[in-house]
Amino acid sequence: MDKLKFIEKLNELDVSGKSTIELYNEISALAMQCGLEGTKQIQGKNAYYLSMEFLIGRSFYNNLLEIGVLEETQDILSSKGVDINIFEEIEDAALGNGGLGRLAACFLDSAAGLDLPLHGYGIRYKYGLFKQKFENGFQVELPDDWQGMGDPWSIRRDNEKRLIKFADMEVYAVPYDMPVFGKRINRLRLFQAEGSAEAEKISEVLYPADDTEEGKLLRLRQEYFFSAAAVGELLDGFVKQRGKNFDKFPEYNVIQLNDTHPVIAIAEFIRLLTVKYRLTFAKALNLAKNTFAYTNHTILPEALECWQEEHIKKILPDIAEIMLKISVYAMREFKTLGCSKEQASEMAIYKSGTFYMANLAVFIAKTVNGVAALHTEILKDSLFATAHKFYPNKLQNKTNGITHRRWLELCNKELSKLLDETIGDSWRTDISELDNLKGFTDSTVDEFIQVKQIKKEQLLEYIARKEGVEIPADCLVFAQVKRLHEYKRQLMTAFAVLELYYGIKSGRLSSLHPCVFIFGAKSAPSYKRAKAIIKFINEIAKKVNSDEQTCDKLRIVFVQNYNVSYAEKIVAGTDVSLQVSTAGLEASGTGNMKFMMNGAVTCGTMDGANIEIVERAGKENNYIFGATVTELSRLKSEGYNPMNYCSEEEHRKALESLIDGSFSDGGSGEFKALYDSLTIGASWHEPDNYFVLYDLDSYVKTLIKVCQDYSDRKTFAKKQLTNVANSAYFSSDRTIKEYAKSIWEI
Ligand SMILES: *Cc1c(COP(=O)(O)O)cnc(C)c1O
Repeated sequence: MDKLKFIEKLNELDVSGKSTIELYNEISALAMQCGLEGTKQIQGKNAYYLSMEFLIGRSFYNNLLEIGVLEETQDILSSKGVDINIFEEIEDAALGNGGLGRLAACFLDSAAGLDLPLHGYGIRYKYGLFKQKFENGFQVELPDDWQGMGDPWSIRRDNEKRLIKFADMEVYAVPYDMPVFGKRINRLRLFQAEGSAEAEKISEVLYPADDTEEGKLLRLRQEYFFSAAAVGELLDGFVKQRGKNFDKFPEYNVIQLNDTHPVIAIAEFIRLLTVKYRLTFAKALNLAKNTFAYTNHTILPEALECWQEEHIKKILPDIAEIMLKISVYAMREFKTLGCSKEQASEMAIYKSGTFYMANLAVFIAKTVNGVAALHTEILKDSLFATAHKFYPNKLQNKTNGITHRRWLELCNKELSKLLDETIGDSWRTDISELDNLKGFTDSTVDEFIQVKQIKKEQLLEYIARKEGVEIPADCLVFAQVKRLHEYKRQLMTAFAVLELYYGIKSGRLSSLHPCVFIFGAKSAPSYKRAKAIIKFINEIAKKVNSDEQTCDKLRIVFVQNYNVSYAEKIVAGTDVSLQVSTAGLEASGTGNMKFMMNGAVTCGTMDGANIEIVERAGKENNYIFGATVTELSRLKSEGYNPMNYCSEEEHRKALESLIDGSFSDGGSGEFKALYDSLTIGASWHEPDNYFVLYDLDSYVKTLIKVCQDYSDRKTFAKKQLTNVANSAYFSSDRTIKEYAKSIWEI
């Protein structure tokens, strides 16, 4: 890396008459040129992270920070009359949907920062996840043409393209490399599909609708496309560098499968070794067992992929054959281990016409990991209980993390500076130094209050500009920002906020500290209930914000197009992070960690990493409510009737507001459908299967308690700062060190 050269060239840069986009491309190109100087060749063992998503967000500021020239760039541009913030106009690269994709991005950042060789493989989607807009309160999806402003951080590698073969078509996988800057430079390689109009469809959009056979086949093509390109080049590269002694392959390579999407890579690996390199099947399978590792991200059945045999046979007949062979091999192994028929069937890779990709991953992978302590326990006790019994050493926990470079240094320069002044700046390179903040003094608390206020004002100004909603800066800020899903229970927050509203209006809660609830979430385009929840919250916001009787006490805003760049502002300016998923269903959560590190207290359930957060920062410094996993399983076995839990007037009123004409769903009937899902259920589920009504009472009481506590600003700020002081564990630097040590052995 050549910082001086960058600074010199930037000083020479003529900015006059140039547009933001031109400047963005020129400065980025300069940074690439200087940043890449002196790149090391890959030696020894490398880890590869295969993921359908990389939610990297905006690269500009982050890369300048990593190269170590962010401040200089700001100063030089400023001396030329250019405000560095103009580049906020540049769109995020939203090549992901939520936590899973953001985790992949955080991992790459941490590995580069720790000088560990971890490289990403994925798809270079032409369009990222859609851009969200609200029209009359409804979500509208617009194409997200993220490359429209140029893509100066990628390098196309034409000479390394590979041909990927399907039964009915051939497709080129053309690599685009994005450097990941840190102590070393790693590589995120995204493949673009080319060759024909049909071929190009493969890398056009993330998660194309899969409710038709055509859609399902397209998804399968995407998964095979990037997995095959990755595995193919790793094997060929090995042969070229070290010859055909494949026994040594696992000494130099380990492949991490991020969820089930890339699991088909296992079959391709065995196919190449047996067909192209003529190894025996048993030998190839054993090599696979020493090469792959698998991360499970959820126990929700819809994310544990199953493929119909007929679909795989249609476009990938050789892969279908290999998977059948693996299945037979697995069955034999299960038998020798002494499994009963039922046990073998639970772990089966193939059953009557269907392939179970999670079972394939668990059978082959050297290690299988969950993403938070509770989640891993659930994997051991239920989802993969049988596998855990017969392969007791496979399952491990690796609690997720977030990169403190983007999620503290970059998004909260004010808090970072306060930390520098309080404990020195070594936390920036060794996050465990943040522990030294424990035992902070009163004057640090005062300074923290000021920092929080500045970040809050910045956030609220931004929201006013973007959304047109004015929010007074003395508000207590609550935020629930994450994908929209029933299990995350944004609907429960909507009910709770309505109850606060009615309470303030009636005078019962008149002494509450003024507060604002910020929501941010995209709904999958075909997920009707999720879209109805967005509309419902927008309707509530409209009513509440325009009620002169209450609007100086309570505001609601649902921000549009929630993404990484929006998250950077929200986590820094928030007081209370809402993490209220049904216990047992949020595998980890990482949003919760970003908030914690920026000094928001968690108001949430005993779920995912919330448990580990309060374990470290103290229950007394956070707000835990609601049913636990144990309580819910007892409730389920006894028979849960949600109607028993909303007899109280307030809860009843909130629920009934879905159907009593308080709010309009534009005649779509979607609010009634939400109401029915809670009260009578549906063909595929019991009423209120996410226990919204069960937890509502304790949720409302907890929110009221938070508001009351906040009136003692200093005591509340101590809770917040205690969260910061205990957040080092949630840096993905810690997570990556654990992967490197006990999974990858790099
Ligand atoms: C961190 C992050 C997520 C994950 O949030 P959870 O609350 O853990 O679900 C989703 N989207 C974006 C843009 C993020 O930055």
